Amino acid sequence: MNHNCLVLVVEDDAPVRSLITTTLKAHSYRYLTAATGEGAVMETASHGPDVILLDLGLPDMDGVEVIGRVRSWSNTPIIVISARSEDSDKIEALDAGADDYLTKPFSVEELLARLRVTQRRLALMERGEVQQAVYENGPLRVDYASGCVCLNGEEMKLTPIEYKLLSLLAQNTGKVLTHKFILQHVWGSGWESNVGSLRVYMASLRKKLEGASGSPQYIQTHIGIGYRMLKIEDAF
Ligand code: CA
Repeated sequence: MNHNCLVLVVEDDAPVRSLITTTLKAHSYRYLTAATGEGAVMETASHGPDVILLDLGLPDMDGVEVIGRVRSWSNTPIIVISARSEDSDKIEALDAGADDYLTKPFSVEELLARLRVTQRRLALMERGEVQQAVYENGPLRVDYASGCVCLNGEEMKLTPIEYKLLSLLAQNTGKVLTHKFILQHVWGSGWESNVGSLRVYMASLRKKLEGASGSPQYIQTHIGIGYRMLKIEDAF
């Protein structure tokens, strides 16, 4: 599967770039590189990579600006690479349309794990599964038309908010959603700062979804950032 996956590596730091490309090569990914934001936009437009690994600190423009420009015409999954430990730049990048993030220094295993999740998301997008009327993820089944959610063949009793939360996460499987994004989509604008309520509803949804012994972990918590629904094979 990796043989067909073309990764654009955008990184101005040569040693980091070479570490990434060496890893990609060793795992049979094809790759392109760019050392600037302008270069990234150009390579994306001319070669249509499957995944973009994007360093946020570039010499000519901010990585977030690159995301905005690429998103004006392309849905290519973007994994941002952040040198800062603060969450604000990652949140800004995710809200601008990035799918996932890595924090420097990262391990080869982390990089490969993020790529696997992104490739699975890509496959879901290509097969049109994200838009389908029925969502299936392991023993979880969401029928959007009837509003029915089943786990292991049994109907789950969800409140309207829990159902909206679950639907939003399911429709964005593989993508990290920020607190702000979730609050805007589930509660509406004006509720962006209500992270406390979100936590309470998320805890109760997770209890219903993952509470039974042996239930897979569907929802990944990104502390200070947000949440992500995983295809259960991706859990890491
Ligand atoms: Ca940099």
